[in-house]
Amino acid sequence: MKTINIKALYSFEGYVVEEIRCEESCAQVKLRFDKRIPPKCPRCHSVIPKNKTGKSCVIDSALAHINTVWILFPTVQGRCPGCEHFVTTRPKEFHPTKKATWRHMRLVSAWAGVAPAIQVAEILDISASSVRSYDKAVLEHDTPTINLDGIRALLVDEKSVRRKHNYVTVVLNADTGELLHMHEGKKGESLAVFLRTLSEEQKRSIEAVGMDRGGAYKRAVEQNLPDAEIVFDRFHLVMNVNQAVDETRRSEWNNASIEDRKFIKGGRFLLLTNSSNLAGEKKGKLRELMAANQSLTTAYLLKEQFQAVYHYKSVGWAKRYLAQWCALALESGLKPFARLARGFTKSSRQIVSYVKHKITSGKIESFNNQVARIIHRSCGVSDLDYLFIRLRHKTVMRNA
Ligand SMILES: [Zn+2]
Repeated sequence: MKTINIKALYSFEGYVVEEIRCEESCAQVKLRFDKRIPPKCPRCHSVIPKNKTGKSCVIDSALAHINTVWILFPTVQGRCPGCEHFVTTRPKEFHPTKKATWRHMRLVSAWAGVAPAIQVAEILDISASSVRSYDKAVLEHDTPTINLDGIRALLVDEKSVRRKHNYVTVVLNADTGELLHMHEGKKGESLAVFLRTLSEEQKRSIEAVGMDRGGAYKRAVEQNLPDAEIVFDRFHLVMNVNQAVDETRRSEWNNASIEDRKFIKGGRFLLLTNSSNLAGEKKGKLRELMAANQSLTTAYLLKEQFQAVYHYKSVGWAKRYLAQWCALALESGLKPFARLARGFTKSSRQIVSYVKHKITSGKIESFNNQVARIIHRSCGVSDLDYLFIRLRHKTVMRNA
């Protein structure tokens, strides 16, 4: 460890500290040009002639108990002889346009990553809009740019970002979970705007796109990525099957005599839990329930058998198995299952393509948890670009 002069905290290339003044909770650090180093263009580093000089100030992080530290510095303005831009010189440790040092903005951004903007504003004694604007600028600067080359598979989903009906369409890299695109709306067009930005080569590398069966994205993929296979999300499909079991249970309950209802009562858990997860006593209860009611037995067996589609290694065999399952479901006489079988028959290709591509929505699910937390912290999302970069940063850093 070495002893430093407090001035060393404010040593910026091309400037020297002239004086530091403090009063109560505010400090002013006054810089002047270092005569040995001429002012340079912040864009191309050409020397700028000192024709027009001015003064400016930025805010910096707290110093001991002094919450507000202003740094006052001289500027040179003019047309840069190198890049021909009209520039105002400032230390490179300061943000090029915002009235703050990078280190202060990074601190604000770190706080904004863990606490709501309003609270961060209160702690650091700046406005909430400054918190958001610093955070956004830091994230935009630090988050790697999107590389769409060589992506194997995508995940598409819709996400509600505001209370009531404000949806966005999100696209993730299915292998890494990296957020690639976010667009207002949940229609196919919200996805198509992204797919149209891909080069022919980028399109060719995408083998599969995972999505929910109920979504509106299938057509957009078929039109823009004709070679990619669509994979309907496995967990949503299993959920659909569970819902059919539950519907069957409800209709059986409604039609059952008081005597029979005592078997059905509490059956929801037994019917929807995987048989392998049921303990001995519960297994006995399930057997009782099934012995008492034929429809529930059928529904339960259909549910258990559906999962087996995903055990196949060949698409062909999985497809044959799914067709058999759909035939059984249609013959079962259970309306919710017949409806499901008709839907599954139509989309059998997109269901069994899982066997080949193994895409699940796991990455989307963990992403969804992030979204809720981040929206809460940013106190709403009036600025979608900000929400995008915050979320993207999270998904990229998780992989770093
Ligand atoms: Zn320049």
